[in-house]
Amino acid sequence: MKANGFIVAALSAASLLLAGCSDSGRIGSEELLNAEADSANWITYGRTYSEQRFSPLDQINTGNVDQLGLAWFADMDTARGQEATPLVIDGKLYLTTAWSKVKAFDGASGKLLWEYDPQVPGETAAKACCDVVNRGLATWGDKLFLGTLDGRLIALERDSGKVIWEKQTTDPEKSYTITGAPRVIDGKVLIGNGGAEFGVRGYIAAYDAKDGDELWRFYTVPDEPSDDDPEYLKAAAETWSGEWWKLGGGGTVWDAMAYDPDLDLLYIGVGNGSPWNRAYRSPGEDGTGDGDNLYLSSIVAIRPDSGEYVWHYQTTPGETWDYTATQHIMLADLEIDGKPRKVLMQAPKNGFFYVIDRETGKFISGQPYIPQSWALGIDENGRPIENPEARTEKTGKPALVMPGPLGGHNWHPMAYHPGEGLVYIPAFEAASIYAPLKGWKPDPKRGFNVGYDLGAGDLPPDPQIRKQVYGTVRGKLLAWDPVAQKARWEVEHAGPWNGGVLATGGGLVFQGNSSSEFNAYDAANGAKLWSFPAQTGVVAPPVTYTIAGEQYVAVLAGWGGAYAITADGGLIDDAKPVQNISRLLVFKLGAAGKLPPQPDLAKLPLDPPPSRANAETIALGKQKYARYCAVCHAPAAVGSTVLPDLRRSGTLQSRDTFLQVVRGGMLQDRGMVSFAESLTETEADAIRAYIIARANEDKAAGLD
Ligand code: CA
Repeated sequence: MKANGFIVAALSAASLLLAGCSDSGRIGSEELLNAEADSANWITYGRTYSEQRFSPLDQINTGNVDQLGLAWFADMDTARGQEATPLVIDGKLYLTTAWSKVKAFDGASGKLLWEYDPQVPGETAAKACCDVVNRGLATWGDKLFLGTLDGRLIALERDSGKVIWEKQTTDPEKSYTITGAPRVIDGKVLIGNGGAEFGVRGYIAAYDAKDGDELWRFYTVPDEPSDDDPEYLKAAAETWSGEWWKLGGGGTVWDAMAYDPDLDLLYIGVGNGSPWNRAYRSPGEDGTGDGDNLYLSSIVAIRPDSGEYVWHYQTTPGETWDYTATQHIMLADLEIDGKPRKVLMQAPKNGFFYVIDRETGKFISGQPYIPQSWALGIDENGRPIENPEARTEKTGKPALVMPGPLGGHNWHPMAYHPGEGLVYIPAFEAASIYAPLKGWKPDPKRGFNVGYDLGAGDLPPDPQIRKQVYGTVRGKLLAWDPVAQKARWEVEHAGPWNGGVLATGGGLVFQGNSSSEFNAYDAANGAKLWSFPAQTGVVAPPVTYTIAGEQYVAVLAGWGGAYAITADGGLIDDAKPVQNISRLLVFKLGAAGKLPPQPDLAKLPLDPPPSRANAETIALGKQKYARYCAVCHAPAAVGSTVLPDLRRSGTLQSRDTFLQVVRGGMLQDRGMVSFAESLTETEADAIRAYIIARANEDKAAGLD
């Protein structure tokens, strides 16, 4: 007994010591549950489990934001999209950059403390729909957690960046990728993945923060039905038809998560179907598509300790337009019809803003936050009233549908200001043509597998027409009242692809944009109060923190991501094409730091060989280009400012070199893998002929 008493006493002393450590930067449940009050730090992706991205800090405010200046900056070592939210812990900034690299900085001085490169193989880029981006880290104890593009979950020592453990979370033979930030609940690291354009089956899994052991896995869509399936997947299988599992099904959990500790519910956002065209993955009796296809495009509530299904709400039943519900999920307590309600809010791709009861999953309200044409509204049960003309897989006819696959809002985080009662949405309006491909066959090796003709919306070479069409593609910062379900104010942007948002107790909303600015607006009315020329498109969301009582605002700048890699940057602003200068920018009051002069955008001459191929060859090239090249190198080869503009590529001059790149994999390390298994030599020749023809058209139209 005496000995036991001694052991108990020794254990108590040990736990007291551990509690002491916990006060000096170790992150546990207590810290994460109280993140809201910890305004000095930013310890989880959306700042709190509610993912509101509101900081109560008010030292920088509407009255003095004009004195905000550049405190320091740090250049990143890649020229690809930057989408990360930095974590801030005890005066240190931890962030991810393109290619899943990690860097740690002193938050006041900008000194680089360490960096880590997981050495993602270059060829992984070909599995990624939307650039080689990464949106951030999670922390627990003294570790950081990183999801890599090639599907690994890695635990790093926070002080040094040293790898503690590493786990492959996906089947490397399939086209899974990770771009999202993990979250941690009670020592469990949660991570999903992407790949629904490439025939995968979506899931989210939990790993033990200690050693990376997989604790549970929650699949969002059913596999080939079997008696052993959990009930929620048996129920889901009733809403599919045909042999969807052979095509993957989709439903990837590539971004949104939120957690309500009182209800002990983890909310996940589920993505689109694979392929997009429902007629192919769930044909129904007449082959034109049938069934809701649960849990595609749904918000699902699950138990974080077991992965057990609790409820779901499906935003787009029978999804066929790439309308993911992976967009930012935000929790808040609102007064609706005189009653306090615990709600969950989302502005998914489909264009409706949803307010859902987060205890039951019951629909409260939903209104369009952008003009949309696929639904006439939402009925009282929360089911959309569809526009039959938008059901292109049923009609078999192409349809121009608003929004298109980029959605009315994409991954860019929103923010909520509790004082104003407003949700700030980085929204955009971009319609798209959905043209069903007859006789489509999946290609398990390469390319977008969506079941639509991705070349159907190609624009003619006439620069005036192109500019007009691009002009209809608009972006805005919407200040949305979720109770009234309408915008209170909005700010128009020049282009659609703008930054994530931060709201602060200083009455400010911070957002970067595709006009290479980083701005502060009055949270109450949208007045622009401050603007910083960032020299590059800003798509990532800012954070704020304090060190020694002084408030800082930090944002990772750098043009990239789905829209940026396919858009002609010059058409957003002819005078100043959007370029990628990947850089962390940090601001404080009274600082007067300067960026180096902006370099000119490097542009190779437009000097193609003459176009001599026949129309049939060029048509074949157009078709193959749309399927295998357009998603990275821009539709109709118009060229973006992020990835090589093929009209200007030197490889056009030499058939051999072109074939060595496209079929030989000569540039594999840079992400340009071999397409030899998907494209014959004749087809690769046709693609070259098509690009040469396009380059000549554009040269004739006056492009230099
Ligand atoms: Ca998608």
